[in-house]
Amino acid sequence: MAKISINLATGSLQQEEIIVGIDLGTTNSLVAFINPDKNPQVINDTGKGLLVPSVVHFNAKGDALVGNEAKDFLITDPANTIFSVKRLLGRSYKDVAGHQDTFSYKIIDDENDSLVKIKAGDKFYTPIELSAEILKELKARAEHALKTPVNRAVITVPAYFNDSQRQATRDAGRLAGLDVLRIVNEPTAASLAYGLGLDPNQQKTIAVYDLGGGTFDVSILSIQNGIFEVLSTNGNTFLGGDDFDRSIVHYWIEKNKLDAAALAQDSGLMQSLRLKAEEAKKALSSQNLFNEQIGDIWCTLDKQTFEELIAAKVAETLNSCKQALADSKLTVAEIDEVVLVGGSTRTPYVKAQVAEFFGRPPHDQINPDEVVALGAAIQADILAGNRSDILLLDVTPLSLGIETMGGLMDVIIPRNAKVPTKAGRQYTTSIDGQVNMKISVFQGERDLVQENRKLAEFDLKGIPAMPAGLPKVDINFMLNADGILTVQAIELRSGVKQEIDITPSYGLTDDTVEKMLIDSITHAKSDVAQRMLIEARSEGEQLAYTAERFIEKHGSFLTPEEISDTKTHIEALKQALAKAEKDEILKKADELNEFTRPFAERVMDVAVSSAMKGKSIDK
Ligand code: ADP
Ligand code: MG
Repeated sequence: MAKISINLATGSLQQEEIIVGIDLGTTNSLVAFINPDKNPQVINDTGKGLLVPSVVHFNAKGDALVGNEAKDFLITDPANTIFSVKRLLGRSYKDVAGHQDTFSYKIIDDENDSLVKIKAGDKFYTPIELSAEILKELKARAEHALKTPVNRAVITVPAYFNDSQRQATRDAGRLAGLDVLRIVNEPTAASLAYGLGLDPNQQKTIAVYDLGGGTFDVSILSIQNGIFEVLSTNGNTFLGGDDFDRSIVHYWIEKNKLDAAALAQDSGLMQSLRLKAEEAKKALSSQNLFNEQIGDIWCTLDKQTFEELIAAKVAETLNSCKQALADSKLTVAEIDEVVLVGGSTRTPYVKAQVAEFFGRPPHDQINPDEVVALGAAIQADILAGNRSDILLLDVTPLSLGIETMGGLMDVIIPRNAKVPTKAGRQYTTSIDGQVNMKISVFQGERDLVQENRKLAEFDLKGIPAMPAGLPKVDINFMLNADGILTVQAIELRSGVKQEIDITPSYGLTDDTVEKMLIDSITHAKSDVAQRMLIEARSEGEQLAYTAERFIEKHGSFLTPEEISDTKTHIEALKQALAKAEKDEILKKADELNEFTRPFAERVMDVAVSSAMKGKSIDK
C-alpha cells in the first residue's frame, strides 16, 4: 500500500505513510502491513521472529526489555518479568482479585485508584504503560524492517472487551507514539484475513473459534453489506494452551513418580518442565511421539495420551460454542463459515473437535497465530482508503442514559443499539434563573440511576439566567466504532457547550452485564412503581414551586381570599409530597391546578389587553 507521490513544489519523492495492523495478544503480539504486492504480511524484523512474546522485563535500572529476551527472565527473575498484562488492561483490582495466584509479579491494590498497578523493581506500572512497552517494541521492529517511520496503527481487541478495556488499549497505543485509527475486534480481523466480508454483497454468519495461550473465546458474527456485527460471544479468560502444558507437566510428574511438594519449591525445574511440555505439545501437532529427557526425568508423551489429557478442556470450549449459538438464537446449520484463530488450534485434536461440532471443515489455511494481525493490516488498508468502504459494527451491551428529575434513568442509547450510533434529547431547567446543569451519565437497565453504573458526571455551566423551562439543553450521545462514548451538552439559546469523552474507571465483566440484565427483570415491577412515584413527586414539587412564584409575582391580580385559598391548596400538596403517596400527590396536584387555572387566564387577559394598549399608543 506504499504509494509514492512527488511533491511538485520541491520535486522530492514522498512515501505515503504506512498504517500497520497490530495483534496485541495475551501470550504473543505481532505487527503486519500490506506489502507492495498488496498482500497482508507479518513483519519479521531480520531474524527476530514473527511473534513477539507479550512479556516485559525490567532490570534494576528500570529499563524495559520486551519479547523473547524478556521471556528468559520468567525463570531467572519472575518478580520483575510481566506476562499476560492484557488480562489486567482496563481492569480494577476487584476484577482480578480471585486470580492473583496466576501472576508471579505483584499486583497492587491502591485504595485511591480503582485500576490495578504492577510492581517491578521499586517502580509501579499501569497495565497501559506495560502494554505501551510491547507496542513500542512492535513499532520499532516495523520501522526497522520497513525503513520508514510508523505512526499510525489499527489494534485488535477481543470482542468481549468493554469500553474501559478498549480505551485502555487506545491509551497504550498513544503512549507508544501511535495514532490508533481504530480498535477492531479480533474475530472481525480474522474473518477479514480470510476475505470474508470484503465483498459488499456477501451475507454470511461466521463462527470464530479462538484458542490462544491463556484465553479462549468464540464469537458469532454476521456480515451483511460489508457490515460486521457481533451477535454473541462466549468463552473463558482462564483457559488456553497453558492448561495443556500444565496437564502434560502433571502427567510427567506422575509417570516419573516425582515428589510434587518438593517440586513446587523448585521453581526453576518447574519452569523447565513447563517449557518442555510446550515443546512436546507443539511437536505432537505434527508427529505421533515425543521422547526427551530433563536430567533423569523422562519426558515421554504420545499423541493419544496427550489427547486424553486435554479432552475435558476442549469439551469445555465446545460448551461455550453451544452457549454462543444459543445466545445468538442460531443453530449449527445456520453457520456458514468457521474460522480458527490462536496458536492452540494447531493441535489436530482441537481442529477435529471443532470441525465435528460445527459439522464442517474450518478455515485453517492461514497461520492461526498470525491471522488476527493480517486482518488488522487489511483493516488498516481499508482505513487508508485503499479499499472500498467497509463498516465494522458492534452492539452496545447495556443502555446508556442520564439522570433526570428524582434520580430517574433516562435512556438515550438503548442496549443492543448498533455502534457507531448517535442519539440525543432536549432538556430544560426546573428552577428560575438556573445557570448550571449537572449531567450524570449512567449505564444499565434499571429505572433508578442509583441501581445503575455511573460512568461520569459534569456540569454545563454558564447558562444565561432565564425562567425555568425556557433554556433548551440538547444532550447528545455519540458512541463511536470503538465503543467509546462522547457526551455533549449544549444550551441552544446561548450556545454554551460542554463535552466529555467517557473512560469508565472500572471494567465491566460479562458476568456484571448479565447480572445487571437479570436484576432489571426481577425488579421490573417495583422499579415501575418507584418511577411513577418519582414522576408524581417531581410534577407535584414543580407545581407547588410554580404556584408559589405565581402568587409572589402576580398577587396583585388576586383577592386576599383567593391568595389564602391557593396557599391552603399548596400546603395540602406539600403534605401529600411529604407522605410520598403517589395517588394523593396526583389528587392534590390536580386540585391545585384546577383552583389556579382561572387566575392564570386572568393574568393572560390582562397581559394581552396591556399589549393591545401598547399597540394603540404606537398610532
Ligand atoms: P494469544 O492470542 O493468547 O496471544 P497465541 O494465539 O499466540 O496466543 O497462542 C499461543 C498458544 O499457542 C500457546 O499456548 C502455544 O503453546 C500454542 N501453540 C503455538 N504453536 C503451537 C503448535 N504448533 N501446536 C499446539 N499449540 C501451539
Ligand atoms: Mg490472540
